[in-house]
Amino acid sequence: MRRKIVAGNWKMNGNRQFAKKLVEDLSSVAGELKDSVEIVIAPPFILMADAVQNKTSDLKLASQNVSNFDNGAFTGETSADMLAEFGCQYSIIGHSERRALFGDLDGVVANKVAKSLEKGISPILCVGETLEERDAEKTLDVIRGQLDIALKDLNEQQLKQVVVAYEPVWAIGTGKTATPEQAQSVHAFIRNEVAVKSQLIANAMPIIYGGSVKARNAKELFAMADIDGGLIGGASLKFEEFSEICKAIG
Ligand code: PEP
Repeated sequence: MRRKIVAGNWKMNGNRQFAKKLVEDLSSVAGELKDSVEIVIAPPFILMADAVQNKTSDLKLASQNVSNFDNGAFTGETSADMLAEFGCQYSIIGHSERRALFGDLDGVVANKVAKSLEKGISPILCVGETLEERDAEKTLDVIRGQLDIALKDLNEQQLKQVVVAYEPVWAIGTGKTATPEQAQSVHAFIRNEVAVKSQLIANAMPIIYGGSVKARNAKELFAMADIDGGLIGGASLKFEEFSEICKAIG
């Protein structure tokens, strides 16, 4: 059976007290559910130390971004090396907010994937189409293009470490979720694209869905054959809601 992952992307929210409490509470849920799902949190960089100090090893840590440079005169950046030192196991790369607002275009995304893999951090590679692209029936072309550029230089050892998150841009933070069938068809497409490189790796790769996942719709999304969990934004800031989403797996 494939590894299931539910990751909470806190974005630019929270403070030290919030982080301590949520991380303590989620650590016990992560312990209870560890045989069925890996629970991951992605706090803002500045709250990572609080997260690390207050979580157990059952709760995994992700960054929301990583630098495409190693070290040096890059003001405001955080390197994969620094993240690895904090025990970061995952890095969200190519989130649509980063692509749209901070110039993380496909080439930059590919560099960030490579940098995180160099330090043993699994990229959670986000791909997804805008509403205009969906309406123009370009969804699969867009996804193929994003995957091709991000994954093209990876060898099999590296590809094995990758998690893909399908996040239709029109579903992020909007309350509009893709239907389970819409999401499933893109997830199956992503798996087939990876299978062109390696069927074995494609079969084992967690492909998670993101876009207005809530406790009320998680179960039907996670029931689909190629949906292996979720990348959760707004709902990951509420302990009860996020725990319910995690419990909706399996
Ligand atoms: C996200 O930011 O990755 C996300 C899926 O956000 P939301 O769950 O709020 O739509």
